Amino acid sequence: MPAATPFRGAGRYAPSPSGDLHLGNLRTALLAWVLARRSGRAFHLRVEDLDRVREGAEQRQLEDLAALGLDWDGEVVRQSERGEAFTAAIGVLEAQGRVFECYCTRREILEAPSAPHAPPGAYPGTCRDLSPAAREQGRGRMRELRREPALRLRAEVPSWQVRDRWAGEVTGTVDDLVLRRGDGVVAYNLAVVVDDAAAGVDQVVRADDLLSSAPRQAHLAHLLGLPEPGYAHVPLAVSTAGARLAKRDGAVTLRDRLERGESAAAVVERIGRSLGLEGCRSARDVLERWDPATLPRHPWTVDLPG
Ligand code: GLU
Repeated sequence: MPAATPFRGAGRYAPSPSGDLHLGNLRTALLAWVLARRSGRAFHLRVEDLDRVREGAEQRQLEDLAALGLDWDGEVVRQSERGEAFTAAIGVLEAQGRVFECYCTRREILEAPSAPHAPPGAYPGTCRDLSPAAREQGRGRMRELRREPALRLRAEVPSWQVRDRWAGEVTGTVDDLVLRRGDGVVAYNLAVVVDDAAAGVDQVVRADDLLSSAPRQAHLAHLLGLPEPGYAHVPLAVSTAGARLAKRDGAVTLRDRLERGESAAAVVERIGRSLGLEGCRSARDVLERWDPATLPRHPWTVDLPG
């Protein structure tokens, strides 16, 4: 039996170790931590290192989060070490007859005529119901291309509904999403669902560019017999030009700010100000003073000197 913990449920932050965290990432992490701690939840860190890994980035990200005053419970989880759990989850869906092999290249999907109301680039269902002979042909083609067929979900509902703390009831598309890619890497949508459930995460706080993925993820959880978490998507940070904040926007990471003589406390103060609070010098100050009901619903425009 697992040891009793003092927590009720868990939140998490799940960065991809592709580089240093910028102010928008740090704000999202801080909000995830505050919302978890505020509600008596555990807080977990998961490194989403199936893809886009930059050498040393994980260590730097963890140091940066700690510098802001965030702490986390238990070991940091790395998705690259979770292959067995992902394979088991695909096995569960396979046993339900919900997995099919897809032999399409990205280009073929983009160029195929899509269904009347499908968004551009949506999977047109090409490999969903192939005859055994056509499957053999597809596999032969994959061998020539030296890749595996992708595995896709045979979706049986068009949409699914989730509850978001700020956006309310959100209904989104469920499509024949990829479970495992042609290069053998497990797809983000599956990994996130399996890992959140394994860690007891029942509160998913992240940037709102992922809101449209939440319904398909919750649906996957449902199919796997896992609890569907509650969601709280927070606005993205943007540059003064209005585009999603990126490294090229200047000195936008904690490291950049420190190099310019700003302290970690001053960076927390900036983030606090974006939430309508003056003088917060540590994550704990934000935890004590911030009222989640006041979260600005528009993107945070980051305007920095230097
Ligand atoms: N790893 C994803 C990112 O850094 C976040 C995934 C999630 O929070 O569900 O954008």
